[in-house]
Amino acid sequence: MPDVVVVIGAGLIGLTTAYELLQRGRQVLVLDAGPDVAQGASHANGSILTPSMADPWNSPGVHRHLLASVVDRRAALVLRVSALPSLWLWGLRFLRNSSPTRHRAATLDSFLLSNYSLRRTRELRERLSLDYGSTTRGTMRLFRDGENLQRALALAQMLGEHGLRFALLDRAAAVEAEPQLAPVAARIAGALRFPDDEGGDAYRFCVALATRIEDCGGRIRRGLGARGILVRQGTVCGVDSGDGVIATSEVIVACGVDSQKLVNPLGIDLAIRPAKGYSLTLDVSSVSGCPQAPLVEDSLHVAIAPMGDQLRIAGTAEFAGMDRSIRPERIENLFEALVATYPDVARQVERRTAVSWAGLRPMSSDGLPTVGPSRVRGLYVNAGHGHLGWTMAVGSAHMLADLITGVAPAINASPYRVGR
Ligand SMILES: Cc1cc2nc3c(=O)[nH]c(=O)nc-3n(C[C@H](O)[C@H](O)[C@H](O)COP(=O)(O)OP(=O)(O)OC[C@H]3O[C@@H](n4cnc5c(N)ncnc54)[C@H](O)[C@@H]3O)c2cc1C
Repeated sequence: MPDVVVVIGAGLIGLTTAYELLQRGRQVLVLDAGPDVAQGASHANGSILTPSMADPWNSPGVHRHLLASVVDRRAALVLRVSALPSLWLWGLRFLRNSSPTRHRAATLDSFLLSNYSLRRTRELRERLSLDYGSTTRGTMRLFRDGENLQRALALAQMLGEHGLRFALLDRAAAVEAEPQLAPVAARIAGALRFPDDEGGDAYRFCVALATRIEDCGGRIRRGLGARGILVRQGTVCGVDSGDGVIATSEVIVACGVDSQKLVNPLGIDLAIRPAKGYSLTLDVSSVSGCPQAPLVEDSLHVAIAPMGDQLRIAGTAEFAGMDRSIRPERIENLFEALVATYPDVARQVERRTAVSWAGLRPMSSDGLPTVGPSRVRGLYVNAGHGHLGWTMAVGSAHMLADLITGVAPAINASPYRVGR
């Protein structure tokens, strides 16, 4: 039996992977450079699990949005000139993958993993009685523009052939489904409802899962970063950590945007770059008439999700390198999206106690995560989940644990392989 498996990263991806390996009888040691689990992108994300949003962000024509964003401060997708040197090669691949054929193929692969993952997430929640404020009322995607609605409908119909359930709502039906939209009804072109999507607080999920991992004998070393992966004759032999060398023959790289840096010296290219996003979490405990289900506002590219006594607004993607700073104007855009969607709610909330946050999505150049073994024996990768890391976490973990333990994964793992 191999020795302890070292998992690098204690966000959604590292923790779910560690848990699945424990379930298969392996010993695990999780390292995280941060002071606690889920302090990276998994901390305050949009909190929705959405196979319905499987389409990668490099849709055909994305280059026009990126160019326009250099001058438009309110654009949802922003390219900072300062980040260009780190983006050249990756950016070319990102654009090459935006051809209609490639984008369509990646959308389908992204959906298959997302849908599988959501099923596994439900099973895990029920089996462990995990409490992370999950909501099972589906999501609604709201459109102000008829053309965008038709494009999204065509995509939903394509995915419908592979299991996505959806309903097209006209303006009246959208307001009937979410009465809080009544004040903005005149500006609604229509909506799509996805009954199987879910919501839930990723941070609470991570904390609850970390407890289970430790209860089952897994170890989590908080505040201990991996500095390098040690390899002898093409095989992993250890991890160089801030606390000396940890001997092991199996390592899983699951450290989000930092994954690329860790495998660079081994000549492995994961094509992952950071795409910064923001969230604003509001206390709505004394607000009347809060929405009951998550909503994605298509034109503003913002998700608004109820989480018990809180409401989270999340969105925007800034290609700004590893800069995690919070730009007040981006947070303001999120609040304006709330005003434009739920004006009655926006009027009642207390801004003083709102929590602003920014995180870095690990974005791959083809919109798919990398999950599987690398060409270094004993080195595995589970990273690059972009805007869908919460949606895909449990499924990716299952798939990798299957591959490591010699079980055939339930879905074809080839589209997500290392070095594809
Ligand atoms: C604003 C925003 C909204 C989002 N909304 C959604 C959503 O609604 N639904 C959805 O599905 N997805 C969403 N996402 C995406 C999702 O949050 C990410 O894909 C996911 O969190 C990535 O998880 P991860 O574990 O790979 O990375 P992270 O959560 O970043 O975890 C990586 C961990 O690795 C650690 N680490 C880094 N380097 C080292 C090292 N050398 N040694 C040890 N530890 C290290 C870090 O400290 C960190 O804890 C959103 C992301 C953002 C930013």
